[in-house]
Amino acid sequence: MSDSTQGPSDRAQLLQQTQQRYDALAAQGLALDMTRGKPCTEQLALANALLGSVNADDCVLEDGTDVRNYPGRVDGIGPARALFAEFLEVAQDEVMVGGNSSLSMMHGVFRDLTLHGAGPDALPYCRHQRTRVLCPVPGYDRHFTICEYFGLEMIPVPMDDNGPLMDVVEKLVAEDPDIRAMWCVPKYSNPTGITYSDEVIARLAQMQTAAPDFRIFFDNAYAVHHLYPRQDTLSPILPTFKAAGNADRALIFGSTSKISFAGGGVCALGASRDNIAWFSTLTKTSMIGPDQINQLRHVRFFGDMQGIERHMQAHAEIIAPKFEAVSAGLTQALDGLDIARWTVPNGGYFMSLTTPEGTAKRIVALAAEAGVKLTPAGATHPGGHDPLDSTIRIAPTVPPIEDVVRATELLGVCVKLAWLTQ
Ligand code: PMP
Repeated sequence: MSDSTQGPSDRAQLLQQTQQRYDALAAQGLALDMTRGKPCTEQLALANALLGSVNADDCVLEDGTDVRNYPGRVDGIGPARALFAEFLEVAQDEVMVGGNSSLSMMHGVFRDLTLHGAGPDALPYCRHQRTRVLCPVPGYDRHFTICEYFGLEMIPVPMDDNGPLMDVVEKLVAEDPDIRAMWCVPKYSNPTGITYSDEVIARLAQMQTAAPDFRIFFDNAYAVHHLYPRQDTLSPILPTFKAAGNADRALIFGSTSKISFAGGGVCALGASRDNIAWFSTLTKTSMIGPDQINQLRHVRFFGDMQGIERHMQAHAEIIAPKFEAVSAGLTQALDGLDIARWTVPNGGYFMSLTTPEGTAKRIVALAAEAGVKLTPAGATHPGGHDPLDSTIRIAPTVPPIEDVVRATELLGVCVKLAWLTQ
């Protein structure tokens, strides 16, 4: 990105205009929030009928399970396992359906790895001197928080449009036996919106790792969250890892948080039979079973994968225009300057804006002062530290479109102002 203004007087004039526009927008008393990727109220309303899909007179399953009572098993009711098997592209005995949060399931698996290890014969993390985790960046702040909670050292790995840079990943995992895990958001990644290429998935499956118990946390939070018919496609994960002889390496997580209700969805883990058996056994120490009534509500409401896909088209109609408004607004504000670039994803909940080095924190602060809250700059990197201070995550789904338009105009002005006063 280069400075494409003509000379000092042009720059001074641009600064004056930009400052004036910033002051005018700040005077409007905006109070907009683009911090977190949440569904908006209209999206939530699409699933309202789910709330009434289980009644007192129809809560006994074909196999005799009364979903109101304690579950017979820890891995979810049969019809929910069938639905999530399809969703995660695994077999029915390769899935464990849980409660409302995949993040809490991932946290639980890290807890199990820390206290009990990756299987009956593996050493728990707590018995090793240290454990290191690969974190593709920019990434999801809550993944980093989980690592911090368990005292795991994070190693950032750069990404491009195909996923993490595999030459870097392969070298690190081949040489360092302390690297025992890796985070991946393989589809419509948070925050760039990119989808891992088939080659990246194949190389992750095939690579040699110094740690025999190396595990990849595939957080497939945006598996079906397409914005357009031109969808990204992701290689089926578990089959690819099986074919490479490394079935146990892949742990695939998903949830309906951004399909049904973010506060009352259902989550699941897809993995090899050995992994499911291991983590089910450990999970039994913390509960008798998950919320079966909510699992049944989801099965009844969606029916099957086609039901989920139809539902997601209705979501896309609501949120795609918001993504387009961000892109159009940034183009209008910054076109011709060549000082920033942003991702235009085919799905997911986020866009990532790359600003001139050393400006992201200031841009977020300027926006906040003028009434628009953005995700803190740095949140996309381990320890909240973006070494180039140039990544800003944009989460456009919650505000009404008029607000997205106003917030984006302000963001564009803040980018210019931070660059001009650098
Ligand atoms: N993973 C990613 C990548 C996310 O972006 C989010 C939500 N922002 C979650 C997980 C949270 O998932 P859940 O609601 O199932 O805990």
